[in-house]
Amino acid sequence: MTTRYSCSATPAPDLYDIEALSLSASALTDDFKRYYGVHLAQGKGCASGHYLFTALALTLRDRLLERMRVTQETYRQQNCKQAYYLSMEFLMGRALGNAALNLGLDDELKQLLNGLGLEYEDLAEMEHDAGLGNGGLGRLAACFIDSCATLQLPVTGYGLRYEYGMFQQRIENGYQQEMPDHWLRDGNPWELERPEYTRRIKFGGHTEYHRSASGWMEVQWVATNDVLAVPYDLPIPGYQNGTVNRLRLWKAAATDEFNLEDFNAGSYTDAVAAKNAAENISMVLYPNDASENGKELRLRQQYFLASASLQDILAHWVNRHGQDFTGFADKNCFQLNDTHPTVAVAELMRLLLDEHQMSWEAAWQITTRTMAYTNHTLLPEALERWPVNLFGRLLPRILEIIYEINARFLREVANHWPGDKSRLNALSIIEEGHQQQVRMAHLAIVGSFSVNGVAALHSELLKKGLFRDFYELWPEKFNNKTNGVTQRRWMAWCNPALTQLLSDTIGDDWITDLSQLKKLVPYADDPIFQQKWHAAKRNNKVRLAELVADNCGIKFHPDAMFDIQVKRIHEYKRQLLNILHVIHLYARIKNGETEGLVKRCVLFGGKAAPGYAMAKQIIKLINNVAKVINNDPAVGDWLKVVFLPNYQVSAMEVICPAADLSEQVSTAGKEASGTGNMKFMMNGAMTIGTLDGANIEIREEAGEENFFLFGLTEAEVHDRKGHYNPQQIIEQDADLKRVMQWLKSGYFNPLESGCFDNILAALTSPQDPWMTIADFRSYVNAQHEAGLAYQDQSRWLRMSILNCAHSGKFSTDRTMQDYNQDIWKLTPIGSPID
Ligand SMILES: *Cc1c(COP(=O)(O)O)cnc(C)c1O
Repeated sequence: MTTRYSCSATPAPDLYDIEALSLSASALTDDFKRYYGVHLAQGKGCASGHYLFTALALTLRDRLLERMRVTQETYRQQNCKQAYYLSMEFLMGRALGNAALNLGLDDELKQLLNGLGLEYEDLAEMEHDAGLGNGGLGRLAACFIDSCATLQLPVTGYGLRYEYGMFQQRIENGYQQEMPDHWLRDGNPWELERPEYTRRIKFGGHTEYHRSASGWMEVQWVATNDVLAVPYDLPIPGYQNGTVNRLRLWKAAATDEFNLEDFNAGSYTDAVAAKNAAENISMVLYPNDASENGKELRLRQQYFLASASLQDILAHWVNRHGQDFTGFADKNCFQLNDTHPTVAVAELMRLLLDEHQMSWEAAWQITTRTMAYTNHTLLPEALERWPVNLFGRLLPRILEIIYEINARFLREVANHWPGDKSRLNALSIIEEGHQQQVRMAHLAIVGSFSVNGVAALHSELLKKGLFRDFYELWPEKFNNKTNGVTQRRWMAWCNPALTQLLSDTIGDDWITDLSQLKKLVPYADDPIFQQKWHAAKRNNKVRLAELVADNCGIKFHPDAMFDIQVKRIHEYKRQLLNILHVIHLYARIKNGETEGLVKRCVLFGGKAAPGYAMAKQIIKLINNVAKVINNDPAVGDWLKVVFLPNYQVSAMEVICPAADLSEQVSTAGKEASGTGNMKFMMNGAMTIGTLDGANIEIREEAGEENFFLFGLTEAEVHDRKGHYNPQQIIEQDADLKRVMQWLKSGYFNPLESGCFDNILAALTSPQDPWMTIADFRSYVNAQHEAGLAYQDQSRWLRMSILNCAHSGKFSTDRTMQDYNQDIWKLTPIGSPID
């Protein structure tokens, strides 16, 4: 595309003959004032938080962008191998605190702003969360790119610049209400629009075959409705190392000629409407966590991301190497974050075959040497399948290529298992039936050289269950990469009290090497250190109590145990089990059975997918139970229960430092990994959990004496299927019987009769896949143990310190090193700045 943005023929090297921007307090202050007073033209009368935040963000952005340009130039000069993280979600949260920390300007900014009579924390609070993700999967992508920059790995994130991110949640009469999240309304000071790298994406139309002069069969995908993809870059700074990597997010825009056609036909308004249809592609994030929804617009989004990103990377290659793709696979690697961007397998084939005239064999070599797939869930409802009809209408050329991939793959299967028809059916990329479907996970596995799960148990279950046949065929493709979180955001930034104590005690190397935390072990029994640890935690609990008071009007006492479950609301995560325990505690208090009881503040938070009726009823139940308990004078301060609305990254930054007990109570075998569990552990919370996902590894690291374990194992859950009898379990457990009777009696819904009938039916069904009732007794027992442990303060502090000390494995720095060693094989590249 030649436009006003195209490179001019004469290079201008002296344009760059300038000094790097200073990080000194005086230079920062000057820039801050200039942005505020000149660039944003803010007068003396009114100091609006928004403009102050924006001026500060722009001051840092300049420093980030110059490093980002130099980092990219360095990668290019070194001609190094690069990896690309393709993800429909990047749950970034706020950027200011992270940027300041990673530029090493945290303290300077505090002082500088204080000198101007401003508070750094107040300005940071002005920033809107970038909520471009649902939950764990999107937040993982954000932690990954942070760690890659800190490790100086040449990795670029590719995603979508949704106009509307994850909805804002309000609670009305106990029910969730969804409000649109127009996060870009006040502008995004961090992004850089790059119109010069706009790409053109095809949709619809049909294919035509021509024999070229050289005898080559050429395929043309024609009569398409094209949409433009315009990139916006966000700087991703490494921790105080000069490296700034890039997150490139695509926005959809209408093409000019698209409008022109309709305009010439005399229908100007239709042309504008068509423009809207094109731009709809990046309008909104689908708010479904762990379930696919099969909407056409979603497939459009997926192809839009895959095609724009691959075209971007190929254009970069051609720019340097022309049409010679030998060596491409040695220099590039694509990591697919779940099946969402998996149409990239077929799109890379299309680009190599149709746009770069490569043979099928050569193109397939490149594709299967560069694609790597990460699976995030075993839940069948989350497995993406697209109707063949829809695919053919929207992406006819891509469907042809998928058919060809499948035909060749099935020949390989037939060779491997001669005469085994059932294997062909089980493995085929196309699922037969009254409506044929494209199985995206199968496309991902066939097209990739690496397939990984996200925790040890999950990766094992993939091999034994969901992908068993593929594992038999290609055992070498399968591997595990246990998730992590970045300690820069989830400790250093969000928990200053703990950070100070750690750095005073063991130095600050843990910020880039979390295994250093094991140096805390000798302090676990030290009473003086324990007191400091307690003071830091208490400080964080006061901060959370303020948030709860502001949002829910309920007082949390900071000496009570803070018992916390925050995550998406889903039946498999079993918020229901937690609320059954809350009702059990309430019944005990009401009956004067307070012997051995501990004072608790129970906090729930999380969003339900707008179409997930059961999850929304669970929110209503939590709110109703909370209301009854919080308003019952007989309860006093034994028990407080709140549902904190609008759980998001910035809320978790206040929540996880303040937790005593981390609720990780999913049905064994259902939570692929979990990452909330890791944030809590790092910040010194104890986990109460099942043997599920990364809980297993958390318990291994922490030691079984420092973990409250309960519940059926995955194997036991599996074996119970078919003869699970919840009614019988209820009959045989007086506590559980009492809880169920209270629920049934309408005690929590006096004026809303029947509103929890669905929940009761689900809990008591022999078909309940989550087996909540089966785990009630062992959960209550483990909770009792946790309560007793909390009452022995020195024992609790020791366990808290040891949990933090043993959390080193759960840094995404470790996760990224594992990906790099086994999959990407990149060389770290130092930055010439800093
Ligand atoms: C970490 C995080 C998650 C993931 O939590 P899980 O408990 O692993 O499901 C979801 N949402 C937000 C905002 C997070 O920070």
